[in-house]
Amino acid sequence: MMLQKSDNEVYTIIQKELERQRKVLEMIPSENFTSVAVIEALGTVLTNKYSEGYPGRRYYGGNEFIDDIENLARDRAKKLFGVEYANVQPYSGSPANQAVYFALLKPGDTVLGMDLAMGGHLTHGYKLNFSGKYYHAVAYGVDQTTSLIDYDQVREIALRERPKMIIAGATAYPRKFDFAKFAEIAHEVDAYLLVDMSHITGLIIAGVHPSPVPHADVIMTTTHKTLRGPRGAMILATKLADRLHDVFRPESKKDLGGLIDSAIIPGLQGGPHNHQTAAIAVCLKEAMEPSFIEYGRHIQKNAAALAEELVAHGMTLVTGGTDNHLVLVDVTPQGIPGKQAEELLDSVGITVNKNLIPYDKRKAMDPSGIRLGTPALTTRGFTEADMKVVAGLIADVVTHPSDEAVLDRVRSKVAELTSAHPLYPEL
Ligand SMILES: *Cc1c(COP(=O)(O)O)cnc(C)c1O
Repeated sequence: MMLQKSDNEVYTIIQKELERQRKVLEMIPSENFTSVAVIEALGTVLTNKYSEGYPGRRYYGGNEFIDDIENLARDRAKKLFGVEYANVQPYSGSPANQAVYFALLKPGDTVLGMDLAMGGHLTHGYKLNFSGKYYHAVAYGVDQTTSLIDYDQVREIALRERPKMIIAGATAYPRKFDFAKFAEIAHEVDAYLLVDMSHITGLIIAGVHPSPVPHADVIMTTTHKTLRGPRGAMILATKLADRLHDVFRPESKKDLGGLIDSAIIPGLQGGPHNHQTAAIAVCLKEAMEPSFIEYGRHIQKNAAALAEELVAHGMTLVTGGTDNHLVLVDVTPQGIPGKQAEELLDSVGITVNKNLIPYDKRKAMDPSGIRLGTPALTTRGFTEADMKVVAGLIADVVTHPSDEAVLDRVRSKVAELTSAHPLYPEL
C-alpha cells in the first residue's frame, strides 16, 4: 500500500512481474517461487542494520537481535544437513564460491572443475571468471558417447594436474553425481573437495539425490533454487578436510570454518544482508518439514514424466533422460537452433533457456539445446499428468515453429494450466 502511493512507477513494474510469473510456465531449472513467508521476511527492517562480523563478535553495536537471526539460520542449516559448520552470509552463489577459493587456495593454485560448456558453472574455472583468471583452472567434461561424467578421466586429469581443489557440481547435468568417487580422487591427490550442490539441494534434502555430506570437505549451495528460499547462499563444512591440515596450512591454527569465516569478512564482504539471513532461516524451517520431502520427490517424478513424454514425442535428450530436476534437449533433429526454440517457447508462455549441449558445434549465444526443469512448476502443484501435457506442448511448438494455429492452441493451453494452478493468490 505504501509503495503504491509513494512510488507508483516501481509498484506498477513489480505488479507486472507478478502477473508475468502467474501467467507463464516457468521451466528454468534454477528458478523457483518462494513462500509468502520468505517474501515477508525479506521486506523487513532487518535491512537497516549493519552487523559486520559474526554473532557475538560484531564491529557495530545494537546487534542482539541480528545475532539471534543469524544463529537461528546457522543452527537450522547445521541441523538440516548434519554438518558442524555453516556460514549463511554470502550474498549469492558466485561470491560464496569466491570465498571458498579465497579460504583454501592461493592465487595461481590449480583447481579442477567441470567444463562450463559441458554443464559446469562460471565460477568453476571459466576463463573470463575470477576463477579462471586468478587460478590455474583445468576442466573435466563428459564422455562423448554417453554424455556422463567419466570418473576415470577425472582421476587421470587429477593425477596429471595435481589440483589443490576439485569441484563437483553443475548447472546443466541431468544425472546423479557420484560424490564418493569424487572424494576418492580428491583423497588420492591430496586435494580439497568442494561440492557445489546449488541446483540439487532440495533433491538431496528429499533423499532423491545422494548427499555430499559424508564425502565433501566444503559444500556450497545457493538458497534460491530447489531449496526455494530467497536469493543467497550458504557454505557448509565437514571435518574431513582436517586430513589436509598438515599438507596445506601447517602454520595456521584456524580450522576450515575459521578460514571460511575470514574469507567472507574481512576477505570479501562487508555487512551481511540480514533480511536475507532471516529469509534463509525461514526457508530452512520449511525445508525441515515433511512436506518438503514430498516436494523434492515430486520435483524428480515430474522431471521423469517430462523426460519420458518428450522422448515419446520424438525429442532427443542428452543422456536419454534424467535422474534429477532437469532435462537437456538437443533440438538439432527438429531443425531449429536453441535460441530460436527459446524464443518460440517464450512467445507461447513457456519460459526455458537455451543451453550448450556437450560437444556442441554451435556457440554459447546460439547453442543446440534447451534446458528445462520442474522445480518451479512443482511448487505450483503441477502433477506428473500435467507435466506430460506440458511435454506435448513443447514438442508441438518446436516441431511446428511457424504454424500460428498450433502456437495459438498452445497459448490457450498454457493459460488453462496456469489458472488451474494459481500462483500467490494471497498477493
Ligand atoms: C546458480 C549457481 C551458482 C551461482 O549462484 P548465483 O547466486 O547466481 O551467483 C554457482 N554454482 C552453481 C552450480 C549454480 O547452479
